[in-house]
Amino acid sequence: MQSLFLREAGFKIMTQSGRKIVIIGGGIAGLCTAVYALKCGYRVELLEMHDMAGGLAMSWRRGPYTFETCLHWLVGSSPNGEFHAQWQEVFDIDRLAVINPEEFVRIESERGDSVTFFTNVDRLEAELLRRAPQDALAIRDFTHSVRSLGKFRMLDPSGGLARNWQNMLHDLPIFPLLGKLSKISGREYGNRFSDPLIRSFFSMGDIGKMSAIAMVISLAWMNAGNAGYCVGGSQAIIRLIQENIEGLGGKIRFKAKVERILVENDTAVGVQLAGGEIIMADWVVSAADGHATIFDLLGGRYADAPTR
Ligand SMILES: Cc1cc2nc3c(=O)[nH]c(=O)nc-3n(C[C@H](O)[C@H](O)[C@H](O)COP(=O)(O)OP(=O)(O)OC[C@H]3O[C@@H](n4cnc5c(N)ncnc54)[C@H](O)[C@@H]3O)c2cc1C
Repeated sequence: MQSLFLREAGFKIMTQSGRKIVIIGGGIAGLCTAVYALKCGYRVELLEMHDMAGGLAMSWRRGPYTFETCLHWLVGSSPNGEFHAQWQEVFDIDRLAVINPEEFVRIESERGDSVTFFTNVDRLEAELLRRAPQDALAIRDFTHSVRSLGKFRMLDPSGGLARNWQNMLHDLPIFPLLGKLSKISGREYGNRFSDPLIRSFFSMGDIGKMSAIAMVISLAWMNAGNAGYCVGGSQAIIRLIQENIEGLGGKIRFKAKVERILVENDTAVGVQLAGGEIIMADWVVSAADGHATIFDLLGGRYADAPTR
C-alpha cells in the first residue's frame, strides 16, 4: 500500500486501493477524472482514440500563430479568483503564462467608426458613453451589472449547505440580476441599445445565442483580472494536466478506441477496444460524449424513452 500525498486542503490522504478505473476519453472531463481517481488511490488507465489529449479543448501552432478552437479566456487565471483553487486541484495552474488583454473586442463599421469593449469596466463605460450618449441609461445599467456580478461568489458544488451558506448569503442581493440575465439571450439584451455597433456586439455569433448572463459574467471576471488568455491556448492546460496524471502514476493510451463497454449483471466490468483487446476494470467511467456512450458503447440497452 503506497500513500499518496495530497497537498490540497479538503482531501484526505488516501492509500492505493489497488482497484482499477478505466476512463474512456481524454478530453478535459476524462483527464480531470483521472487526476481525482489517482488522488483517491485508484490505478488509472485512460483510453483516448485520438493521438493526443484534449478532445474539444484543442489548439495548434502554424508558423507564428496559435489556432484555438475552444478556450479564449480561462476563468480562474488569477491566484485570488474564483475557480483558481479548483484548477489547482487538477494541475499547477500557476505554471501557465497568462495575458490579461486591455481590449476584449473592437468592432469597426465599414464607414471606419469603431467601439472598443475594454476589459476594465470603467474604461468600458467611458467608451460606450462616448460612442452612444443617447444610450446612457442602458449603458450604466449594463456596467452596473458587470460590477455587481464581479462580487458573485461561486458555490462549491461538493460543499452542500454547510460549506455554502455564507456564500449564498453574500450572493443573495445578486440573485435577482442573475435570474433576469439568465432568461434572455445576448441578442435580446442588445435590443436595449440604439447604437448599431454596440447592439452588434451582443448579437454576434455565439454571444447572440447564449443567455446574456454568459457574456456579462465573463466581462465581470475579465474586469477582475480572473479570465485571462493562457499562452499556448487549450493545449497548454491539457499538457499540464497530462503531466500531472503521469506524475501520479496514471497511464494514458492514445489511438485506443473503445468499441464496447463490457457489462455483467448490469455492471460495467471492462471495455473492448477496436481490434479486440479486452481491458477489465473495477470501475469504468465514460467521458466520451453521451450519445456514443449510451447508443454505441452500451448498444442502447440502458436508454429509456426520455433518453431516446
Ligand atoms: C469553439 C468552442 C468554444 C468553447 N469555449 C468554452 C469556454 O470558453 N469555456 C468552457 O467552459 N467551455 C467551452 N467550450 C466547451 C468545452 O470545450 C467542452 O465542454 C469540453 O471541452 C468538453 O470536454 P469533454 O471531456 O466532456 O468532452 P470532449 O472534449 O468531447 O472529449 C471526449 C474525448 O473522448 C474521446 N472519445 C470519444 N469516443 C471515444 C471512444 N469510443 N474511445 C476512446 N476515446 C473516445 C474523444 O476523442 C475526445 O478526446 C467550448 C467548445 C467549443 C467547441
